[in-house]
Amino acid sequence: MSLDDGYDAKTFFSARDAYTYDDFILLPGHIDFGVDEVDLQTCLTRNLRLKTPIVSSPMDTVTEDQMAIYLALLGGIGFIHFNCAIDEQAAMVRKVKRFENGFITDPTTLSPQHTIADVDQIKATHGYSGIPITEDGTLKSRLLGIVTTRDIDFEKDRSRSLSEIMTTELVVAQEGVSLSEANRILKSSKKGKLPIVDCNFRLVALVSRNDLRTNREFPLASKDANKQLLVGAAISTRDEDEERLAALDEAGVDIVVIDAAQGDSIYQMKMIEHVKEEYPRLDVVAGNVVTVRQARHLVEAGADALRIGMGVGSICTTQEVVAVGRPQATAIYHTTRYAEEVGVPAIADGGIASIGHIVKALALGAHTVMLGGLLAGTAESPGEYFYKDGMRLKKHRGMASKEAMAEGGVKRYINQVRDTTVHVGVESSNGIKVAQGVSGAVVDRGSLLDFIPYVAQGLRHGFQDLGVRDIPSLHRALRSGDLRFELRTYAGVLEASIHSLYEYQQDMLWPSSREE
Ligand code: GDP
Ligand code: GDP
Ligand code: 5GP
Repeated sequence: MSLDDGYDAKTFFSARDAYTYDDFILLPGHIDFGVDEVDLQTCLTRNLRLKTPIVSSPMDTVTEDQMAIYLALLGGIGFIHFNCAIDEQAAMVRKVKRFENGFITDPTTLSPQHTIADVDQIKATHGYSGIPITEDGTLKSRLLGIVTTRDIDFEKDRSRSLSEIMTTELVVAQEGVSLSEANRILKSSKKGKLPIVDCNFRLVALVSRNDLRTNREFPLASKDANKQLLVGAAISTRDEDEERLAALDEAGVDIVVIDAAQGDSIYQMKMIEHVKEEYPRLDVVAGNVVTVRQARHLVEAGADALRIGMGVGSICTTQEVVAVGRPQATAIYHTTRYAEEVGVPAIADGGIASIGHIVKALALGAHTVMLGGLLAGTAESPGEYFYKDGMRLKKHRGMASKEAMAEGGVKRYINQVRDTTVHVGVESSNGIKVAQGVSGAVVDRGSLLDFIPYVAQGLRHGFQDLGVRDIPSLHRALRSGDLRFELRTYAGVLEASIHSLYEYQQDMLWPSSREE
């Protein structure tokens, strides 16, 4: 007799119906490993890997520099929104790239004639105050000393020149030193900074002790070859965003997402080709798509990853307004069937409301999930908390909501004949804007520093119950038919939720604030 219960994905998704996360359940597998043996490493794109399969949505209530920094430290990546001026978006990218470093190859320097006030200024703008002092105040000039907080914090007269204050007994390392060796020198010298100099004692780089500590505290961090955090940013398909793209590249962005609700357009294909031609070092996430045909166009144009989802976001009204879209489970399953064949990773974007939804998205073939609403209530998202009805809330809105369009988006989209944009609604030649999203508020979810590890541990439990140790094994089980699916009836969903209690205490699905 066959021991197979339930249905393999191919059979399950060949029905006429389209399913979303809550429509189905996954059957358990066999556990022969501990929960901590589950490895959540994954591919974000053809070229970039992450240790945590979570990315943040390029929405103006979700991802700015703080979200991107902390999510990258925790093993994911943030995509900085573009509902702002080009230089503002580029400045946010720069902040993420500067946050942690191996060798700082362009450290801020001053000359001995500068004053403490100049250091104060740098501290206020960039957040650091460990400044190498060189002969003419530039990099590649002879290193004379270093000024750090300890040299200046108790000094009342901020007009004193740095020549009187700087430390001149320096521990340095020679150009060519490995990062491991530089770190060793830094540790044994007990200094905060290690200047790297060439044979003529000209400054070429700086290594900071603080970064060593950060590296130890965040072992999962997503980093580039120079140990800087990975960061993504959004662009649109409009020609004028070629300027935005150039500024983002200059700021050091690692990956761009072309933000379009319906990604299968000639405009997007042109933009993908432009990025790949002009900026070969940049990875491109293309989308959004929900069908194989759409996906194929973007992959053929050169996409390094696909973003899947149309009209399923928590703040989204697309399916209601334009009657086009697809329930998310079916969209992910079918699109990734193709994407996997051509070796392009997929991001499941929108509609994720629980850890279980993330397990399901990955089980359907996605490599990562993109979160909007779930991250909007964290301390690292833009905006301030406020109280309403006794609840601590943060504002959250769709990028195609009337409000978001009015605050910046619309300025760039007015009088456009074609609407290829983004989730920034429909802007046509007659200037009428059709909203495809709403604005509202979400509850406080505490800090990412608690939230992401909690979600990751939940995912590990999900994987363990499925009997798979990692994402590649899960995808293999999906395609081989070992992973079994079943439809849930209405009664089945009710049975799986809290029921038959006179009263109960709703425990948080995740901690709402740091437990001291
Ligand atoms: P890993 O990053 O520790 O997994 O190891 P790598 O081989 O990539 O790093 C080489 C050396 O650089 C090791 O001594 C690391 O501890 C150190 N390292 C890693 N990240 C950073 C960083 O952001 N700053 C500094 N200064 N060192 C780092
Ligand atoms: P400081 O002692 O005030 O300089 O600050 P820390 O050493 O505590 O932290 C400085 C942080 O800023 C580290 O993570 C550095 O990698 C980063 N950083 C980025 N660019 C620079 C730079 O040009 N100079 C310095 N000093 N730090 C930089
Ligand atoms: P969430 O995680 O909140 O359920 O979904 C986030 C996703 O919703 C975003 O990544 C984006 O794809 C989509 N989105 C953001 N703003 C809007 C909007 O105003 N309208 C629509 N249709 N989708 C949006």
